[in-house]
This record gives sequence, structure tokens and C-alpha cells, in this order.
Amino acid sequence: MPQYDYDLITIGAGSGGVRASSMSAQFGARVAVCEESRVGGTCVIRGCVPKKLLVYGAHFADDFEDAAAYGWTVAPPEFDWSTLIANKDQEIDRLNGIYIRTLRENNVEILDGRAILADPHTIEIGGRSVTAEHILVATGSWPSMPDIPGIEHVITSNEALDLESRPERVAIVGGGYIAVEFAGIFHGLGSEVTEIVRGDSILRGFDEDVRLTLADEMRKRGIRLMAETVVRSIEKEDGAFSLRFAGGDTLTVDTVMYATGRAPNTRGIGLEEAGIELDAKGAVVVDAQSKTALDNIYAVGDVTNRINLTPVAIAEGSAVAQTLFNGTPTAVDHANVPSAVFSQPPIGSVGLTEAQARADYAHVDVYLSRFRPMKFTLSGRDEMTVMKLIVDADTDRVIGCHMVGLDAAEIVQGLGIALKCGATKAQFDATVGIHPSAAEEFVTMREKLPPHEARRAG
Ligand code: FAD
Repeated sequence: MPQYDYDLITIGAGSGGVRASSMSAQFGARVAVCEESRVGGTCVIRGCVPKKLLVYGAHFADDFEDAAAYGWTVAPPEFDWSTLIANKDQEIDRLNGIYIRTLRENNVEILDGRAILADPHTIEIGGRSVTAEHILVATGSWPSMPDIPGIEHVITSNEALDLESRPERVAIVGGGYIAVEFAGIFHGLGSEVTEIVRGDSILRGFDEDVRLTLADEMRKRGIRLMAETVVRSIEKEDGAFSLRFAGGDTLTVDTVMYATGRAPNTRGIGLEEAGIELDAKGAVVVDAQSKTALDNIYAVGDVTNRINLTPVAIAEGSAVAQTLFNGTPTAVDHANVPSAVFSQPPIGSVGLTEAQARADYAHVDVYLSRFRPMKFTLSGRDEMTVMKLIVDADTDRVIGCHMVGLDAAEIVQGLGIALKCGATKAQFDATVGIHPSAAEEFVTMREKLPPHEARRAG
């Protein structure tokens, strides 16, 4: 008779938890996964997927406009918010069903409810206790907001995806990728958008040329960006909301959305009491194989606050299954993880920013190309594409690729393979381009930019 009810209990059926659970079961483990909300987690239910569907929806505004120059007569387009939200919900239900089916087909038991770690081998859920040899914490993260007067009036990305009607005027507080994505969504769907950023601009941590380009493009579209602005309070006034800034100015809008970061879901679920170490931000501290301070407890995904992206959580979940139930201890390589921002226009990035490269390498070459995409030559849309390659001049290895422009995510995914393989600039140059495409620019850039300082000064 086995000592425990299961070989593995996973807390959280999101990106990392579902992958780890299904794969562990495929390796022969007896697995249960606990979920307090809906199977699929943030990405499927209230993150990547619904967001990207709304991004697609918002982009039609440009497509209708540009179509005229290609000879199409388009009746003045009308947009119906409730149709988009209902169709998006239907797709989320479909995906939720697929995730549940996948777990069941792999004989993973789904335990509904909020799981609490009672001791290193025991979970309490739905009024009962279940035990496992190994436990995986994959509880994800949740929006975090400053504690200012009136914060109860704001929404986060969770609610923004489910609003009953489209707000006429929206203020989005925050400068990270979720904030700029929602600025593009609301603006594309017809709202008047103001994005409020505490720092000097949006997307801190991204390459400087990428940040400047996207901020420029957002302004050109009519999104109002307020930098170095701090919201002190929010007041409700006749169905609208008034934001009061540190300088005393105010802004009145119909909806206030906060996207000011996310905190790991680690509080109140017995982790620290069981002896699991958390860092200053509340994230679970793990080693390269995602093991916590306790030998039988692992943690993956956003709850560990390493790289908070779905494919990373999935890779970490797979690695835990390999380590625990397939006899192959596996660590995820977190270097050169490509990522995208589904802003308008979108961003794709992999590797180091120019600033990081200059800090880490003695000699850095930078190649940059800025052009109007061919698609807009007929329509005259004033939107630029920027592509950038960063090269370690001593080894000729390409150590950073960045793009702002149409299809950036699709293009940079392929370049992620090149960087993973350690491709050199000479190998990029020896690659034949696909013509006519924007992507070919990445293999035809020949002119080095002058050194960083000179360029900024000039
Ligand atoms: P999650 O997917 O969050 O799953 C955690 C699960 O645990 C949840 O279902 C939760 O209900 C459950 N849970 C928590 N505590 C308990 C408990 N005590 N008991 C039972 N269940 C519990 N990433 C990308 O790669 N690309 C994108 O385009 C992208 N867009 C995003 C857009 C938005 C608006 C947001 C918010 C995130 C986005 N992300 C994106 C990030 C991505 O969603 C996360 O990195 C990913 O979902 C993390 O997976 P996870 O397994 O760590 O946690």
C-alpha cells in the first residue's frame, strides 16, 4: 500500500501546473491537481489568450482604414463590444474544456477548491486532507496595486477583459507590457486612452530604441502618454472617476485600469509555515531544478518570479516532471528567452538590450534599421518599423535582436533559434532574405551605428 494518496499534488492548474501534472502522469505518476478558479490559469482564462483575441479585434480599425488605398470600399465600420466579448468567452470556454479533457485523459485527478499546505506532504482542500510524496506549487501571480485612496474604484486586466461595455474614456496606470497592450486594445476599439507612467517612459527594461519607437507610435495614434506622473487618489463623481496627480492636476475618465505589476500568489496558503523560503517580493525561492527549500516541494511559473511568461512556466513544469518521474534531472535554460509585446505596433525581443550589452561586453556593434513597411506605402499610414541587432564585436556573435513593427512576434521567434544556436553576424549576413518581407532586413543590415554615446549626443 503506498504511503501517500498521490505521487504528486500540484497546486494550481495554470500553464506550469497543467504541463507538470499531465507529463508526470504520462511518466506513470499518480497525480492530482488543485484549482480554485478555472483550469487553464491566467494565460488561458484572463491573460495571453483573451488579450490576444482583443488585440486582433482592435487591429481591424487599421485594416479598414488601409483597405481603401488597395481599392476596397468599406462602409463606415461599426464595432460591437458585446459580440467581441461573447465570442472571446466562447473560445476561452472551449480551451478550458480542452485543458480539463487533457488532464482527465492523462488520469490526473482535478480537485476543486483552494489548496492549503498543511505540512510538507499534506494538502487541505474542500474540507478534506490529501497527501503526496511530492508537491508542486504553481499558483501563479495576481495584480498588485498601490494602497491609495479610491483604489477600490479601479479595474485590473482581470476585469478589463470582461467589461460589459466599452468605456468612452480610459486611464491606464502603469508602463509595463500589460499596460501598453491594453492601451492599444482600448484605443483600437474606439476609446480615448491616457496612459500614466511613473517613470520617464513606457516599458522600463526594454531596449531604449524600442521604448522610444513604441512611445512615438502610440502618441502618433492618439494615445496620450503622461510620463513622470504619480496618481495620488481616485474619486468617484457622477458615474465617472477623477484621478488626482501628485502635482495637483486631475483627469476625469469612465474607467481606470491599473497595470502596476503582479505579486506571486504565496500568501495564506501555508508555504512559509511549512518551511518554504520566500524572497522579499514574496516569490518562492527555488534552485535550478525548481526545488524549494524543502526536498519534496517544487515551484514553477510566476510564483517563482523568474521570467513570468507562459512558455517559461510550461518549460519549468516539464522539467519538474522529467526530474521527479523520468529519472532525468532537468534545469530550464533561462537565457535568450524570446518575448513579445502585443502593442500596436507589436514588439519582439530576444537577448540583451543595447544597454545590457554595453555593460557586459567590452566591444559592442549595433545595427539599426528604420523604415516604413511596404504594406503602408499605398495607404500612407505613418507607422515606422524599427529593427535592431546587437553584436559582441569580439566574437561576432549576435547577442540581441529587437523589433517594433508589424509581425514582430512572428519574426523574432525564428531569430530566437539563431541566438540559441550562438549565430554570428557573419552567419546572419550569409543568410538569404525572403523578398519582399520586413524580416529580410535582419539579414541585410550592413551599416554599424556609431558608438552609443555619439549617437545619443547626435
Ligand atoms: P497561472 O497560469 O497563473 O496559474 C495559476 C493557477 O493557480 C490559477 O489558475 C489559480 O487560480 C490557481 N491557484 C492559485 N492559488 C491556488 C490555491 N491556493 N489553490 C488552488 N488553486 C490556486 N505570457 C505570455 O507568455 N505571453 C503573453 O502574451 C502574456 N500575456 C499576459 C497578459 C495578461 C493580462 C497577464 C495577466 C499575463 C500574461 N502573460 C503572458 C503571463 C502568463 O499568463 C503567465 O506567465 C502564466 O500564466 C504563468 O503560469 P503559471 O502556471 O505560473 O500560473
